[in-house]
Amino acid sequence: MNDEQFDLTIIGGGTTGLYTAFYAGMRDMKTKVIEYQPGLGGKVSFFYPEKKIYDVGGFPGVSGEELVSNVEKQALSVEPTIVTREKISSIEKLDDGSFLLTSGCGGRHYSKTIIIASGLGTFDMEPIQLPGSNLYQSNIHCTIQKIKQYEGKKAAVLSDSRVGVDWALALEGVAAEVYLINHGTEFKAVYEHDIDKLEASTVNVYRETNAVEMKGSDNKLSELVLDSGKRLEVNDLLVYQGLKIEKGKYEKWGITTEKGRIPVGEDMSTNIDGIFAAGDAAIYPHKTMLIASGFSEAMTAVNSAKQAIDPKAKSQVYSTVIYKHS
Ligand SMILES: Cc1cc2nc3c(=O)[nH]c(=O)nc-3n(C[C@H](O)[C@H](O)[C@H](O)COP(=O)(O)OP(=O)(O)OC[C@H]3O[C@@H](n4cnc5c(N)ncnc54)[C@H](O)[C@@H]3O)c2cc1C
Repeated sequence: MNDEQFDLTIIGGGTTGLYTAFYAGMRDMKTKVIEYQPGLGGKVSFFYPEKKIYDVGGFPGVSGEELVSNVEKQALSVEPTIVTREKISSIEKLDDGSFLLTSGCGGRHYSKTIIIASGLGTFDMEPIQLPGSNLYQSNIHCTIQKIKQYEGKKAAVLSDSRVGVDWALALEGVAAEVYLINHGTEFKAVYEHDIDKLEASTVNVYRETNAVEMKGSDNKLSELVLDSGKRLEVNDLLVYQGLKIEKGKYEKWGITTEKGRIPVGEDMSTNIDGIFAAGDAAIYPHKTMLIASGFSEAMTAVNSAKQAIDPKAKSQVYSTVIYKHS
């Protein structure tokens, strides 16, 4: 059993969790990040990797994918331990005031302090069930993730929502051919101007159409069969059929919540000494649910965790020191 103790364990490897890990490195804290998804980046990677983000300081416009890649690089520069595919299910306070975090799959993690950066909880895409789908799992995607992987490919998007329209428009100009297949007549929650863009685009839109079978060979998808009998030549299939969201079970961890979020003090403290929260998981008056707020809260939470371990530690540090006291 690995019972190595960390100074800080961060629950969640979204943009907030990753930046928290970086700043903890700046404070010389031995840090671990635990993320449920196989990849990092949280909501940004999951929902809008292809979209441009305009409101993060220093970036006049950056794609979600690029932002996550930069935050991840920044975090990795301080060499935190990163554990993925683990969902923290309980937190126990030990006699010495430190914590034991456990996950459903048997993971045990010891830590002096914790920062909860788990957003509103975990999310999973509804899986697709079509004849043949079990054979072509590597060609079925539930988010765009890295748009370059579609270069020159033929991609089909199965969706009746705005997410599908966004994906199809993002793939246009990257993929060789894009198909958007909606079993209904309309797209849900879509902006009028995106429908205009879709109509002006080269995306092949099929309404009132279902995909009924996937075909290929050697576990490589090559064809999607529609209920009209039409066969589309396709290399990759993106599917958005809704989400299963499991809200954070913070109360089970003994943490006070307010409408599913964690009320925090000015130092990002929760009701439990040694546990702090940052990013979308945290709530306080006039809170903005934005990426940059998570970054700022991360710094405060780390500084508080540092002082919880060592009350004499400085309240903050600068990344660039231009003079030194003798
Ligand atoms: C469609 C959309 C567009 C947006 N556009 C913008 C924008 O333009 N600009 C902007 O600043 N903000 C935008 N936001 C808001 C922004 O995405 C969020 O504020 C930000 O992603 C929050 O980051 P986070 O790391 O706090 O949480 P999340 O990104 O939600 O990350 C939390 C992570 O914790 C993991 N996790 C949860 N529970 C556990 C557990 N028990 N164990 C292990 N891991 C766990 C989750 O899997 C997830 O990866 C947008 C949000 C949406 C939905």
